[in-house]
Amino acid sequence: MRRLELAVALVVALACGAVSAARGETADLVISGGIVVTVDAKFSVFSPGAIAVKDGRILAVGPAAEVSARYSARNRYDATGKLVIPGLVNTHTHAAMTLLRGLADDLPLDRWLTEHIFPAEAKNVSPGFVYDGTLLAALEMIEGGTTTFADMYYFESDAARAVDKAGLRAVLGETFIDFPVPDHKDLAETLAFMKSFAKRWKGNSRIIPAVAPHAPYTCSKETLTAARDFAQSERLPILIHVAETRKELSDAHEKWRKTPVSYLASIGFFDKPPSGERLPIVLAHGVWMDPSDRALIGQYGLSLSHNPESNMKLSSGIADVAAWEKEGLLWGLGTDGPAGSNNDLSMFEAMDFAGKLAKVKTEDPTVLPARELLAAATREGARALGLGAKTGSLEAGKQADIVAVYTQTAHEEPFEDVYSTLVYSTKTADVTDVWVDGKRLLANRRCVTLDEKSVLDAAVKWRKKVHASLAVAAKRTKK
Ligand SMILES: [Zn+2]
Repeated sequence: MRRLELAVALVVALACGAVSAARGETADLVISGGIVVTVDAKFSVFSPGAIAVKDGRILAVGPAAEVSARYSARNRYDATGKLVIPGLVNTHTHAAMTLLRGLADDLPLDRWLTEHIFPAEAKNVSPGFVYDGTLLAALEMIEGGTTTFADMYYFESDAARAVDKAGLRAVLGETFIDFPVPDHKDLAETLAFMKSFAKRWKGNSRIIPAVAPHAPYTCSKETLTAARDFAQSERLPILIHVAETRKELSDAHEKWRKTPVSYLASIGFFDKPPSGERLPIVLAHGVWMDPSDRALIGQYGLSLSHNPESNMKLSSGIADVAAWEKEGLLWGLGTDGPAGSNNDLSMFEAMDFAGKLAKVKTEDPTVLPARELLAAATREGARALGLGAKTGSLEAGKQADIVAVYTQTAHEEPFEDVYSTLVYSTKTADVTDVWVDGKRLLANRRCVTLDEKSVLDAAVKWRKKVHASLAVAAKRTKK
């Protein structure tokens, strides 16, 4: 009997050993069964594919049979009938402005800002406003498959608290501007705020504090230089609006006899720190740039953020993105703020509009094919923000920022090409599941990290406060 028991035990042990040898490592999560669109350098697609995730990172990506055989998993996610893509990267927005969504529309940028947005902000923007507004934006982004975003606003330390709670990844730029704003009255206060903001959040795995001088036309040379110096001393990214409107270009010519880009170059704004390390400098818009401006962008290794819907809605102009792409400039896509320049945070729309706008501009339907647009919304956007080693594609070693997209819908079938579907047909509502650092933020279209009702209720309350503060007489239709 004892011999028999021993023999049975030996067989069982050998069998288990064989399984564990075949299965190798244990993963926290294996996503398998769908079409995995990696957006790696080779644009590898695995159908059916699988992704193994452990400790927030991608262990392996490949054919489903191969990955499933290699890894046993604590959790499995069946992605059959879905596309599995990298989390989308929004390279330019003002998240808390979701609370001002639709407050004023159909106006030129300068009137929209000075007559509506700046007064509303002066009366309402507070730590609570920024926290609640960023939560609303985070909810919209999670539901729409965006996992990383770059923000420019006020009270960014409170935006950071909201991002932390939501579980997203973000580059959060505190505004430098030459007039008193809700969280600081002058440059000295801005720098003091930046110091404590950077100290609080630097080193966080998902939240990167950044310096955000608003624009060359709202910041003096002294402010721009101070912002650059602070970014260099703390090794932080810089976010700035540049060359957005024709008026900005003509004003720059009048004031400095230079384009906005060449003016910034002339004051040393783009210079590297003494260490020689290149920190990300992200120029939002770049609509009004000539070939010599583009040469400067390439020469200084700057990043561009293209915001097609904002440029269209504010009638700012059409950026020559086909030229950026042809000249090998580093650029990503953004939505811009959701208040009056979009008015949502859909990166699927950003891809769709960017492609179509470039085709209109060049009268050439072959420019910016769908595959390049998906790359701009993922891998290239991540690179533009200095996060290329961390996110933006589904590759072993990167953080597990992953999105599952349902494709068996009337607006996506019959399904032919993954890139065409994602760029020209998919809507944010098709996103079913989202992970950041391997943590599930959206499960079957329900946000796991935020309570949807309380986020929406807070937004409605803020709108009432904003209306009361502005004594808006005309009642607008609202829910
Ligand atoms: Zn903006």
